[in-house]
Amino acid sequence: MFPTRVFTIILLALASPLLAGEVAVDPGDNGADILEDTTEDADSRSSEVAAAVENLLDPDITTEPVIPLADAVNAAAGLAEPIAVLGTEVMPGTARRLSWSATELFEGVPVSTPVLVVNGALPGPTLCLTAAVHGDELNGIEMVRRVMHDLAPSKVSGAIIGIPIVNVQGFRRGSRYLPDRRDLNRYFPGNPNGSAAARIAYSFFTNVVAQCDALIDLHTGSFERANLPQIRADLRNPDVVTLTQGFGSMVILHSTPAIGTLRYAATRAGIPAVTLEAGGPSQLELNEVKLGVKGIETLVNTLGMIKQRRLWGEPEPVYYRSSWVRADNGGILLADVSLGSTVRKGDLLGTITDPMNNARTELRSPYSGRIIGMARNQVVMPGFAAFHVGIQTAEAPVDDSGDAAAVGKTSDSDDYVDGMSE
Ligand SMILES: [Zn+2]
Repeated sequence: MFPTRVFTIILLALASPLLAGEVAVDPGDNGADILEDTTEDADSRSSEVAAAVENLLDPDITTEPVIPLADAVNAAAGLAEPIAVLGTEVMPGTARRLSWSATELFEGVPVSTPVLVVNGALPGPTLCLTAAVHGDELNGIEMVRRVMHDLAPSKVSGAIIGIPIVNVQGFRRGSRYLPDRRDLNRYFPGNPNGSAAARIAYSFFTNVVAQCDALIDLHTGSFERANLPQIRADLRNPDVVTLTQGFGSMVILHSTPAIGTLRYAATRAGIPAVTLEAGGPSQLELNEVKLGVKGIETLVNTLGMIKQRRLWGEPEPVYYRSSWVRADNGGILLADVSLGSTVRKGDLLGTITDPMNNARTELRSPYSGRIIGMARNQVVMPGFAAFHVGIQTAEAPVDDSGDAAAVGKTSDSDDYVDGMSE
């Protein structure tokens, strides 16, 4: 059974009347947004996603866990069974390296990416790890490699499936996006008759993700921003909450997933999913990788899929909201704090200097808290989201304003949180 545990929660300010109007907004509007979908794309995306959600009503596609994931190992009886992934039967107690390629060829050339499967000798649930859905986010690739190659199939209860590079086209180009500049993580669960992005998403979702009982999608900050290792989860969903409780002392942010994200689509299909954010794009950061691996291995351990000593001690219950601090002037941003720093209200976070007239402005923290995300030193425009401050609160309220799809939240909404990160 799942141990009763306390865990650190950072709650974004969605539900905070105290902070309304100045907090928790999309940090991604630094000019790079022009790479995002146009309105026309967004319209076609919406219809694709709507059609795909309809498809999820098909019981052949929907995966409904029969028992809560946390109880899955204890409830599993009898012998472990082979699992069929991508047309291959993986026998209990074995590891296989399979290959997935989208059913539609991209640029006329088949593109395949490895799917690592460890089917344990003992029965249990299937946990999936996905990385590089954004092709320039490298830390998760290394996390998947380390976790998967640490596993001894003879000692695993259930199965773990790791996909180190989901967006292989973006990865090859060092890009967040697919070659047509679409963001793959806005097209799940996909559509077999839609755009290239929708077809790739559909193929991946139906051939791989549908096998999972739970999913961790690994990401980093985007566009020259880095995140303190953290779990982002929709804490309104009890199955997702159960999942978050297994990560030890990792920071947990409540966030409603954007429509079309893998996290959103998987959870809608009955597969509890969270995002693990760690570090920034386009580089490998060893400390972040180690923390992410520690969190994932703690989860695997907590779920009972591996029996070993606890990796992470009992965490202290600390609850947070969060807020982005933005630049009011353009210029050269230089930080005076680092990721994880504790700050007090009024502390200097960084300076922005106009390279033309040498005018210097200061960014100060409006709150006491902790730096959970920040921009790298760079040239910024007014309005740029520079520092993400976690704010400690006495309790852990959860946004209950409804499902993102139901209330029509978009990336332009003031209360849209995940922004470009996930
Ligand atoms: Zn990402």
